[in-house]
Amino acid sequence: MTLVPSHIETLKPYVPGKPIEEVQRELGLEEVVKLASNENPLGPSPLGLEAARRAVEEVHLYPDGASYYLKGRLAEFLGVEPAEIVIGNGSNEIIDYLIRTFLTPEDEAIVSPGSFIVYQLGCQAHGVPMKKVPLKERTFDLEAIAAAVSPRTKMIFVANPNNPTGTWVERRAFEAFLDAVPERVLIVWDEAYFEYVEEPEYPNALAYRARHPGLIVTRTFSKIYGLAGLRCGYAVLSAQLADYVDRVREPFNVNSVAQAAARAALDDTEHVARSRQVNAEGLAHLGRALPELGVRVTPSVANFVLADFDRPGTEIFEALLREGVIVRPMAGYGFPQSARITVGTPEMNARLIEALGRVLRR
Ligand SMILES: *Cc1c(COP(=O)(O)O)cnc(C)c1O
Repeated sequence: MTLVPSHIETLKPYVPGKPIEEVQRELGLEEVVKLASNENPLGPSPLGLEAARRAVEEVHLYPDGASYYLKGRLAEFLGVEPAEIVIGNGSNEIIDYLIRTFLTPEDEAIVSPGSFIVYQLGCQAHGVPMKKVPLKERTFDLEAIAAAVSPRTKMIFVANPNNPTGTWVERRAFEAFLDAVPERVLIVWDEAYFEYVEEPEYPNALAYRARHPGLIVTRTFSKIYGLAGLRCGYAVLSAQLADYVDRVREPFNVNSVAQAAARAALDDTEHVARSRQVNAEGLAHLGRALPELGVRVTPSVANFVLADFDRPGTEIFEALLREGVIVRPMAGYGFPQSARITVGTPEMNARLIEALGRVLRR
């Protein structure tokens, strides 16, 4: 008897970074450093945390289903209309909503293996066929993607910067891509790490919405704002598209604590600036120290690096776990000899480098 359709039968669940408590419990370790999920090593935005504490007092009430105040503040912050914003329980949820709202099994989405796996999982979960366009030198190949568009293509997924490679596409390539992709095709442009990037030629996709009406930009409070555990992300898209997504959205998808914290975190320019600074220094540190250990690193503009070893990434992952350092093996993303390492505080980075030195000398 088949209980589920074949696309569900063959679906592999998302494997998250290993939680700190799990490693402590399983290995009997006390001091564990997690550099596995690109979380902010400085912790949550203090302003966000303060707002969250106040909001907890009111959790007997349902949240504002329309996220009115968060949308209003975001609209002001981003220079868009509130009607052009959708708030989600993490941007992961928004990706799922976009697929559910706009795609059917008769359509086709373009994804790139070696990018965020959630795009593929979401499409498969909804029975949406995918065309797969490989990365080129670990970066999105926008020319090949544009050339792969067929009459069935309805949605394209791109992460800029890309996770797990940390690479990015420049303004000129982005502009050419927007012009090459037909207007009827929706482009989901994922900027989860937008706030970390300091490259002058890195495009802010929000500035290009008039150039392609189907451009959908997603961002999150999980990374630089340090609110991953509260689950809050957003998309900026045309009011018409937003209205369709809103019909699919669950009535109370974003909890009241997350709404309050996210709104306050937007004003926390100090925390954001400090996070960006600590990350830039950490990226430089890892960029020097990892190659000294014989580890190859893909140049990254995000808050993590993809590190290549001369043995399976899972071996490195397991050995580092026993040293009390959690990283992320990347075989599932098509990088069997790699691990993704989140940039930590100077102390966490030093701990990683020491532990990795011991592991590699064995
Ligand atoms: C971390 C990440 C997200 C954010 O996910 P949330 O659901 O908002 O926590 C989205 N896209 C990419 C590429 C990411 O790496």
